[in-house]
Amino acid sequence: MAVAVNKQLNPLENAERQFSEAAALLKLDAGTMELLKRPRRATIQWLPVMMDDGSVRMFQGFRVQHNIARGPAKGGIRFHPDVSLEEVSALASWMTWKCAVADIPFGGGKGGIKVDPRTLSKAELERLTRRYAADLSDLFGPESDVPAPDVNTGEREMAWIADTYSMHERRTELAVVTGKPLEVGGSAGRREATGRGVMICVEEMCKHLGMKLKDATVAVQGFGNVGGVAADLLARECGVKVVAVSDVTGAIYKKDGLDIPAVLAYVAQNKKGVAGFPGATALANASDILELEVDILVPAALENVITSENADRIKARIVAEGANGPTTPDADQMLEARGIHVIPDILCNSGGVTVSYFEWVQNRMGFYWQEAEVNSRLREKMVKAFGDVLKMKASKDKDAKVSLRNAAYMVAIQRVLRVHELRGMYS
Ligand code: NAD
Repeated sequence: MAVAVNKQLNPLENAERQFSEAAALLKLDAGTMELLKRPRRATIQWLPVMMDDGSVRMFQGFRVQHNIARGPAKGGIRFHPDVSLEEVSALASWMTWKCAVADIPFGGGKGGIKVDPRTLSKAELERLTRRYAADLSDLFGPESDVPAPDVNTGEREMAWIADTYSMHERRTELAVVTGKPLEVGGSAGRREATGRGVMICVEEMCKHLGMKLKDATVAVQGFGNVGGVAADLLARECGVKVVAVSDVTGAIYKKDGLDIPAVLAYVAQNKKGVAGFPGATALANASDILELEVDILVPAALENVITSENADRIKARIVAEGANGPTTPDADQMLEARGIHVIPDILCNSGGVTVSYFEWVQNRMGFYWQEAEVNSRLREKMVKAFGDVLKMKASKDKDAKVSLRNAAYMVAIQRVLRVHELRGMYS
């Protein structure tokens, strides 16, 4: 029996539609559009892993390199039961455009393993991660393809990947992966970088709109590396009131603002999630967090959470996309029509890959910067990228209004295309 696929929720369809809209505004011809749309390489691996009880289990892994014209493929590795080649392909293309908007010398890539990591022991996860890294050691390399963390992977997995690759190369090569622990060549400020970039984008957006950030209300969906840090920095450095946060365990709300450091400590201590945090109200449905009466909404969990089903109930004035692909193209149009300002993912969450680039640079120099230097270089890059996108929007708005997403794509596409033109075509 055929399974109905909701095209609106297919991240690859969405990524291609976002690209095509901007490419059409740039009047690219059909061949150029194809050149920029198709992934350069997509691989599927079946990974055998010896489980703790002696049985063997097969896991499916993926790595997609979307475009490497501007430099090595760059992009995280996701561990999630719903990972698919289509999802990884969408994420890889978003990386191409993200690196170009951020103006860092990388192309786009992404990887993933179809697994629920919570069901594996630490030793099983290590064997799975190392098998994946060993299998892809021909593709990976500081000059060719540099992975990083994504959903359900972090410093620990990146250290395993750096070690596996180094064992195969017979020398220590730390620049093969970013997001590593500090002691293994990680960069100061990397863990916070994506959330910090989200904060900088929100600040820039408020400046642009003439909107006061202090005491503005914020809701954050997803309380991991991106959402947890964004909530914390927005509260501590900008004085906003984070009234609601959520994760897989549920959503919590407090009208006067949650004590985010206390929520972070609670999550770290009970090793589960935000649900049950004392003194806050639980929202009946975790997804209700998206529809709260707040000034700023930060979706920082997974893709396709703002769809045509709920877009007309979003009340925030600004949507800052911490996650990749949280808004479907149909929903995008609805938000745009209602005057809601969406800071697109390829701009809003580019702080992570920007500091990944700094980490790669530091590894190759063998010289490490203080956190203040990393943060100030990050701010400089993010403010420049935000300004470039606003400038593009202003230049196009004269003819017909374009969204910030279209403008960000146009900046990125022009940059990637220029490199293709200069390098020429080898065929
Ligand atoms: P993470 O694993 O650290 O955290 C994900 C969070 O989302 C967790 O709190 C999880 O409980 C929550 N979550 C998952 N499903 C949810 C649901 N249905 N409802 C509410 N919460 C849910 O992952 P992360 O690194 O923070 O990544 C989050 C998003 O940001 C992803 O889209 C990722 O691709 C994107 N991103 C991450 C980085 C990075 O540097 N880590 C950089 C750019 C973009």
